[in-house]
Amino acid sequence: MILMKKIEEYVRSIPNFPEEGIIFRDVTSVLQDKEGLHLAIDLMQETLKDVAFDIILGPESRGFIFGVPIAYNLNKPFIPVRKKGKLPCETVEMEYELEYGTAIVEIHKDSIQPGQKVVIIDDLIATGGTIEAITKLVKQLGGEVVKIVFLMELEGLKGRDRLKEFDVSSVIKYE
Ligand code: IMP
Repeated sequence: MILMKKIEEYVRSIPNFPEEGIIFRDVTSVLQDKEGLHLAIDLMQETLKDVAFDIILGPESRGFIFGVPIAYNLNKPFIPVRKKGKLPCETVEMEYELEYGTAIVEIHKDSIQPGQKVVIIDDLIATGGTIEAITKLVKQLGGEVVKIVFLMELEGLKGRDRLKEFDVSSVIKYE
């Protein structure tokens, strides 16, 4: 009998990283195993099976890792969301709060057409601040967020509360 490992078993958890008291959920241990990688992509993609959409958006850098293969498999375009100053053409930007200070995310202005249905994909939701900022960018360009997919969710940080108006799925949930 072949025993399949569950997706959770591919995630390495590192206590006290990057600081005391935090348990870091490491996605590299999923990616570096060929079965873990397949399982992660397949399970994330599965959440989109009944969703009609036009484009996938993913934030740098781990949103790229999961967003691109799913976009490729489903024959959709992929739009990279980048940190400020990396994109060469006209952009729209959104500032959001981090634990210490703020950050800015950007997308190309011509990357979303009004009325397009958008799926956002990232590796992990913590406070939800990054994805909330991205939903605002999508809105600003006239797009509609129809689904948000994560591999992992840190439920204790209540990121979902910031995304109440959206359909959010996560494959692995940590308390
Ligand atoms: P948020 O904006 O607070 O939801 O932060 C989300 C981002 O923080 C994700 O894209 C992750 O890359 C990163 N992050 C926060 N905690 C962890 C963790 O435990 N493991 C891996 N990435 C994390």
